[in-house]
Amino acid sequence: VDEGGEVTYKRIQSKQIMGSIQLGIQHTVGSLASKPKRDLLMKDFWEMETIAFPPDGSSITPAHHYSEFRFKVYAPIAFRYFRDLFGIAPDDFLMSMCASPLRQLSNPGASGSIFYLTDDDEFIIKTVQKKECEFLQKLLPGYYMNLSQNPRTLLPKFFGLYCFHYNAKNVRLVAMNNLLPSDIKMHAKYDLKGSTFRRKASKTERQKASPTFKDLDFMEHHPNGIFLETDKYNALIKTIQRDCMVLESFQIMDYSLLVGIHNLDLAQKEKREERIRNARAKLQRSEEVREAPEPPDFDQTMNAGSTTALQSAGTALNRSRSMNRQRLVAHSTALESITADMDIPMEEDEDVPAGGIPARSENDERLILYIGIIDILQSYRLEKKLEHTFKSIIYNGDTVSVCRPSFYAQRFQNFMGKTVFKKTPTFPLKHSPSKR
Ligand code: ATP
Ligand code: CA
Ligand code: CA
Repeated sequence: VDEGGEVTYKRIQSKQIMGSIQLGIQHTVGSLASKPKRDLLMKDFWEMETIAFPPDGSSITPAHHYSEFRFKVYAPIAFRYFRDLFGIAPDDFLMSMCASPLRQLSNPGASGSIFYLTDDDEFIIKTVQKKECEFLQKLLPGYYMNLSQNPRTLLPKFFGLYCFHYNAKNVRLVAMNNLLPSDIKMHAKYDLKGSTFRRKASKTERQKASPTFKDLDFMEHHPNGIFLETDKYNALIKTIQRDCMVLESFQIMDYSLLVGIHNLDLAQKEKREERIRNARAKLQRSEEVREAPEPPDFDQTMNAGSTTALQSAGTALNRSRSMNRQRLVAHSTALESITADMDIPMEEDEDVPAGGIPARSENDERLILYIGIIDILQSYRLEKKLEHTFKSIIYNGDTVSVCRPSFYAQRFQNFMGKTVFKKTPTFPLKHSPSKR
């Protein structure tokens, strides 16, 4: 935030960045439509295209209210191919990205990246550093290979890589899948690495309305871990192992498992309390009406009452609709990501949001998990070599979060398989009457 109270990144107003991204994406997706679909060629991974956007418009770009900028699209044909693999139609991508303004998210990360969320909740656009952008370009052929062999993965789904150039500054951006649907309340969020060294949410982070906690916080909140049915546990751990093998092969480190927890029992309790609150407020209103010396305007009170009822019915409807909405991106829910060969039984219950992985807390509360691996654009090969030799002298190599990729991957898998997730015998998602 700058002196004038405007949100900025690299001293560029967020509004300008968001608006320009949308114009850029609109142009590239539109111009791709005239290029017929074809097989991917190796050269597609290196290609890039830069378009100038003068405010007055040009023969190929529209006029706009922002300052002049350039928009670079990396590997447009390759990313079109990826989007196609993920089942995203060009029109849907365009609608999600460009039809409504983007929302900016607050970022708990230390890197200073900014996150933008599309209005429909499907996509996240993250600003990345130059070296991360270069790394993703190099990663694309390997990423493609992995994707075609194994579409069920917890790795990030990348839909586009762009560079917004304005006022001699570059803002590099990657479009990816949003792991945490904002219409489902996350009662807790964890960013887990399997390292314990300084892995605790800061005080400022903990004071936020929806903080992202870390490894040490998790161990404190869930000393016995989170319980999954055997088949879910096996599928999850197998997926993590497979993904870690890929990450290790690219010498990638410092990635995290993002875990969002929706607590069904808490959500029900909150709903009940809200109903009681509403009923109380209503009662109070009617008492006030009765006590009022002047007879109140009958029509008005009637209307006020009926609007609230209607409104709450409306929100309830909206909520259940969006909870069970099909995600745009194929294989993108946490449950789909881990269950390639498993039948996914559809939850009948209206109140159980779709797509998450059912689990239990150690207190037997019913949980729904939203998970994915994030922040994978740090390669050891590129920059970590020096840091490792330096840090491992100072701290013991076991707990420092910067260490060899294979060690990182091993520790990551170990932590997820032993400390975070635990296996339980099969249980029904609904409470059996004998319990509680
Ligand atoms: P640092 O490098 O300091 O760890 P960063 O700026 O690279 O941070 P990330 O680690 O990618 O940022 O993400 C920071 C936080 O943003 C995560 O802990 C998570 O809360 C949120 N986040 C990141 N990616 C996603 C995603 N795909 N879906 C939902 N939330 C996300
Ligand atoms: Ca991170
Ligand atoms: Ca990072």
